[in-house]
Amino acid sequence: MRKISLHGGHSGQYCDHARDTLAQIVAAYHDAGFECIGLTEHMPPFDDAWLYPDEAGLGRTAKWMQARFANYVAEARALQHAYRGRMGILVGMESEWYPGCGPWVASLRETHGLDYVVGSVHHVGGECVDFSKQDYERIATRYGGLAPLYAAYFDAQLEMMQAIKPEVVGHFDLIRMHDPNYLQTLTQADVWERVLRNLDWMAKAGAVLDVNARALLKGQAQPYVCAPILDAAAKLGVGVAYGDDAHGVTDVGCGFARVEELLAQRRMKGPETSSSQVLRQIGG
Ligand SMILES: [Zn+2]
Ligand SMILES: [Zn+2]
Repeated sequence: MRKISLHGGHSGQYCDHARDTLAQIVAAYHDAGFECIGLTEHMPPFDDAWLYPDEAGLGRTAKWMQARFANYVAEARALQHAYRGRMGILVGMESEWYPGCGPWVASLRETHGLDYVVGSVHHVGGECVDFSKQDYERIATRYGGLAPLYAAYFDAQLEMMQAIKPEVVGHFDLIRMHDPNYLQTLTQADVWERVLRNLDWMAKAGAVLDVNARALLKGQAQPYVCAPILDAAAKLGVGVAYGDDAHGVTDVGCGFARVEELLAQRRMKGPETSSSQVLRQIGG
């Protein structure tokens, strides 16, 4: 498998829950032999109501986060230039999906001339499911159980894809993160039909599926996405890309061999086959 990562490069400089500098992380990718990497720092919020609790605790404001994001793009472009001919670097961002994100993502894409966007969902019904296990369980109770929570998550994901048109869809089945019986929950009819619907949308749109090894770092047995979803994506002809979702130097390249094996077993197509113009230029 070509050594490409399309989701990662979060750094302690530009993200409050990551470590190390962006230059150190990019150097680690180069040392690990990557031919192309996508830097996908988290998007800044458009107002203070959407700061994460850790960011609010540090006294961040939306305006401050937006200025830091502009600095990220500038440094990422400088690194792209510095590595020209040695390693391809795409400058992108990872989205959020909460009310108001559609126009905001479009404006960030345009203002910063981003190469691409990883479309991710970390919120369901305006509440973050990715911050703590306690919150996750509380929100599941609010929805009346895990299956309805999954269904709402996959509905939010479809809305996100239709609005943002992401080139890459990030950690597609993140919603299973605190559910030990996720294989059962995922295959309930109301959930599974949404999984297939979203994969079908991606196949038609040429959006690439992030096979995200961060789940392995966090102690999960399978990356995001898990085997049944990977099988379904292979059948539908969805293109895939490895993503380490690195939040520090030590995460760079994590689980690459494992993901390579999973994709080879299914003879899945790499991101360079995507219909997206940007991704077709990988390594070119
Ligand atoms: Zn992060
Ligand atoms: Zn994410």
